[in-house]
Amino acid sequence: MKTLLVTGGAGFLGSHLCERLLAAGHDVLCVDNFFTGTKANVAHLMEHPRFELLRHDITFPLYVEVDEIYNLACPASPIHYQFDPVQTTKTSVHGAINMLGLAKRVKAKILQASTSEVYGDPEVHPQTEGYWGRVNPVGPRSCYDEGKRCAETLFFDYWRQHRLRIKVVRIFNTYGPRMLPHDGRVVSNFIVQALRGDDITIYGEGMQTRSFCYVDDLIDAMIRVMATADDFTGPINIGNPREFTILELAQAVLRLTGSRSRLVFKPLPADDPKQRQPDIALAEKMLDWSPTVELDCGLEKTVSYFKAQLQTGERETLDLAR
Ligand code: NAD
Ligand code: UDP
Ligand code: UDP
Repeated sequence: MKTLLVTGGAGFLGSHLCERLLAAGHDVLCVDNFFTGTKANVAHLMEHPRFELLRHDITFPLYVEVDEIYNLACPASPIHYQFDPVQTTKTSVHGAINMLGLAKRVKAKILQASTSEVYGDPEVHPQTEGYWGRVNPVGPRSCYDEGKRCAETLFFDYWRQHRLRIKVVRIFNTYGPRMLPHDGRVVSNFIVQALRGDDITIYGEGMQTRSFCYVDDLIDAMIRVMATADDFTGPINIGNPREFTILELAQAVLRLTGSRSRLVFKPLPADDPKQRQPDIALAEKMLDWSPTVELDCGLEKTVSYFKAQLQTGERETLDLAR
């Protein structure tokens, strides 16, 4: 069995990945600076004999001995990545250099969690890996989008220059348990608002589209990408091609929660992409994979998670009030 490093392993996707890699019999080293990740996300793994948690910021060098690296460290929700945009770019760029340097020294295979944001506000629909994107280099989303684009450049230069074994995965909107309730992403926002009976905040007219992938499907694909032959580098799109308007998502959340929350319309944030849908033909061919979890089913599991979270939160508030 292998020793695997997961950076950002205490985050939403990272914690699910650590779980799956442990279950497959590997040693897992989870590295996280807890900016948006939490110890609670991996608390159930702490007693596992093959799991190790290290507090570390990947913008600083890291010297460990591992066989494979999953580089997920980077805040992913707009409010978090825009909170300290310089640190966001550093995490993507310096972080990538450090993890690539580490991979080079120990001859590890390395996978980058890239993003559909590299396509920006796309003119090509659905997005194929061959599309170069339409990204604003000087806007509020640029720290994330351009940081991730530069990380891809670094991965491909280490591959060309140092013959590193790389895998670049472009992840499209993914949701599920362990998203943070206040991270501003649309699925968590709508569910928390619906469960609390608060207004559902639709930005713009809600006609912009996204395609939502359930976390289990995404992790399954990520592990398959790591297992591809050494000459396969990607980039490869991973996501669910079923496209919904944001208004349709709001209606689905209202239906599944039985909530009587009102829909309210707020201004559309700057550079908000109008449409996004992955072309997953390459993933279907290379990985023999396609997503299996329908939106309603994934949303139900996510609603159950947030219900439990909100109940715990309310209990804690009551305890404090006593
Ligand atoms: P997340 O914010 O829950 O996870 C990111 C993790 O990285 C957190 O645990 C955070 O504390 C950690 N981190 C941030 N900066 C760090 C640093 N400098 N050093 C060490 N750790 C650091 O977000 P997520 O949704 O789990 O995203 C994981 C990865 O997948 C990110 O790279 C993100 O860009 C990418 N991604 C996610 C989505 C999605 O829809 N969830 C879509 C596209 C790409
Ligand atoms: N690095 C690291 N761990 C290692 C090896 C390297 O964190 O095990 C970092 C180190 O900070 C270095 C960076 O990765 O600056 C890039 O390494 P590389 O060997 O590519 O270039 P260098 O800057 O060492 O010439
Ligand atoms: N959005 C919304 N209401 C919210 C949060 C987000 O209408 O409370 C919209 C947002 O403007 C965007 C879409 O939902 O068009 C997806 O937003 P998210 O931040 O989840 O992901 P991204 O924009 O990075 O795809």
